[in-house]
Amino acid sequence: MGESHLAKHTHLVPMASLDNAFDEAELAEWDVRLRKLVGDAVDRDGYCCELKIDGAAVSLTYRDGVLAIGATRGNGSVGEDVTANLRTIADVPRKLSGGNWPPLIEIRGEVYMEFDGFERMNAERAAAGEPVFANPRNSAAGALRQKDPRETARKPLRFLGYAFAVPGSGALPFSTQWELLETLASWGVPTPPHRRQCATLEDVHAWARELESTIRADLPFAIDGGVVKVNRLTLQTELGMIGGRVPRWAIARKFAPDIAETQLLDIEVQVGRTGALTPRAVLAPVEVGGATITYATLHNFELVAEKDLRIGDTVQVKRAGEVIPQILGPVPERRTGAERAVSVPTHCPACGTAAVRDEAEVASYCPNLECPGRRLEALAHFVSRAGMDIRGLSYQRLEQLIGAGLVQDAADIYAISAAQLVPTKGAKGEEPSGGVPGFQAKSATALVEAIEASKQQPLSRLINALGIRHVGAESAKLLARSFGSMEALQRATVADIEALHGVGHTMAESVREWLDAPAMQSLVQRLAAAGVRMDEPRAASADGAFKGLKIVLTGTLPTLSRPEATELIENAGGKVTSSVSKATDLVVAGEEAGSKLEKANELGVTVIDEAELLRRLGR
Ligand SMILES: [Zn+2]
Repeated sequence: MGESHLAKHTHLVPMASLDNAFDEAELAEWDVRLRKLVGDAVDRDGYCCELKIDGAAVSLTYRDGVLAIGATRGNGSVGEDVTANLRTIADVPRKLSGGNWPPLIEIRGEVYMEFDGFERMNAERAAAGEPVFANPRNSAAGALRQKDPRETARKPLRFLGYAFAVPGSGALPFSTQWELLETLASWGVPTPPHRRQCATLEDVHAWARELESTIRADLPFAIDGGVVKVNRLTLQTELGMIGGRVPRWAIARKFAPDIAETQLLDIEVQVGRTGALTPRAVLAPVEVGGATITYATLHNFELVAEKDLRIGDTVQVKRAGEVIPQILGPVPERRTGAERAVSVPTHCPACGTAAVRDEAEVASYCPNLECPGRRLEALAHFVSRAGMDIRGLSYQRLEQLIGAGLVQDAADIYAISAAQLVPTKGAKGEEPSGGVPGFQAKSATALVEAIEASKQQPLSRLINALGIRHVGAESAKLLARSFGSMEALQRATVADIEALHGVGHTMAESVREWLDAPAMQSLVQRLAAAGVRMDEPRAASADGAFKGLKIVLTGTLPTLSRPEATELIENAGGKVTSSVSKATDLVVAGEEAGSKLEKANELGVTVIDEAELLRRLGR
């Protein structure tokens, strides 16, 4: 843990750690051990099987149903007080619903990140030249320990509860682990999906096989196995702990890791939109976790040096769920001496400009603002959903527009006319000429309309779309809301920008440098001349589609992340709240929506899906 800025917190009841069973035989041995102590009493309520979520364990203390303290696991006895940070996670109830909770209870669970949120966050960090996280677990743990809760709030953190502890011996409103989970859900605490009550050990084996072979691949988050618990709580008490720390009544059923060995054929250099030069590993095709892998991300050259990767090395590759494959490291004993060291690129592979390396940063980058390698990436970012959100401009379309000489930079997009896109029909027997392949009158008109509509995007979107180094979506919002207009931002000094809370010197300098670059000044002028909006509307328009409504989000939405959906609702005047009550006006439910959806149905609250949400927002 090291030196910490966080206060220590002593758990009322220590947090346990689990023994592992790596196969069915080891699980059977565990079962034999516990039957020696309690006999066939196990058979009465059987076993409760749950996912083992790969996140950071936390303990939430509720006094009279109100979240009082939230703490990390720490060494099991003493953790760190991260209450303020935990309060920013929408899944963590500030208040328990219902009323049958004990006056003092510690609810244990896992803070984690879903794959898509993790990858989006890393992509944004990499694009902004910031260091990336190795895996969702590390980033969840890091986000929990932030100094500033607003930083934590920006991270796509989720929470699932699965255990409890009550100091002393009070009466509990449940008698089995299964009922405990159902009760937690009724209190508004999200609980792990895919759990199962198993009557026999054979049923437990079948559940674990299903988990490993099918369920795991479809989960939106990482698990490192399952947990099997003796279901009856009085039996759990009777079985007790080994050495006060490891319960006899529970065991982790771990999976064999999805790791394979293959050869590192090459390391390619890619140019990002901000000019960051990033390495990408080219691998001899290998199957890992049911997929054939030929590339792996390496994020930056420092990581390559840290892992001591050499071209020609035999490397270990890991894949978990949908996460982009990772290289764990080389297998040095397989080296033949023919391997080649990897050097940090000295020049941009796209334009040949000498690469710049900021000592304070991990990345080398191409400083050429007109680099053709950066152009396509920059345009793709400009039109992306987090940017100007121009539908119908895929990568391929952009490449075509560049190829046709219609587009060189973002402002050129606003000069496109439908007539330029549609090829002219040739005379009989002749090929059509001009235009852009694949466009017809209808698709060309649709694109021009989408381009026209994007002119109304607020300044925050425009700033993000422009792809200034170190400025991500959140910082763009901060800049737009603070300065209000592009004109005001252009007048701001480094000191003015740096004075904003949440902006560091590096970002402030980067913004000023961008604003001062003649090419960028002319780009902004041309965008303004084309009619692109250059100011930020006041927050929460009073007459938005969701004016005054209390809305709850639950489950995984098909395309929107939590922060995106929250922003859309807030911009339409709505308020996003964490738990469903009679005061809730609307519930937006996605995949795996659990107790909140049940509660909404119970209370007769209107439930809609993402498509309906977008429809009501007029999108
Ligand atoms: Zn370049």
